[in-house]
Amino acid sequence: MAIALICPKLTCRSVLRVPDNVRGKRVRCSECGLAFYVPETPKRAVAPRKTQEEKKSE
Ligand SMILES: [Zn+2]
Repeated sequence: MAIALICPKLTCRSVLRVPDNVRGKRVRCSECGLAFYVPETPKRAVAPRKTQEEKKSE
């Protein structure tokens, strides 16, 4: 599965499509050549497991 990354360089901001096995590694932007680190977790909303509300209901 490919993931889409946006180049962190402000003057570039190219959208890069890379395989998701590059997580935790560095990729190089094909536009500007900047190498940057890809975070392990994909960009998506993760629901917090322990919330204040959960504790209250105990
Ligand atoms: Zn770039």
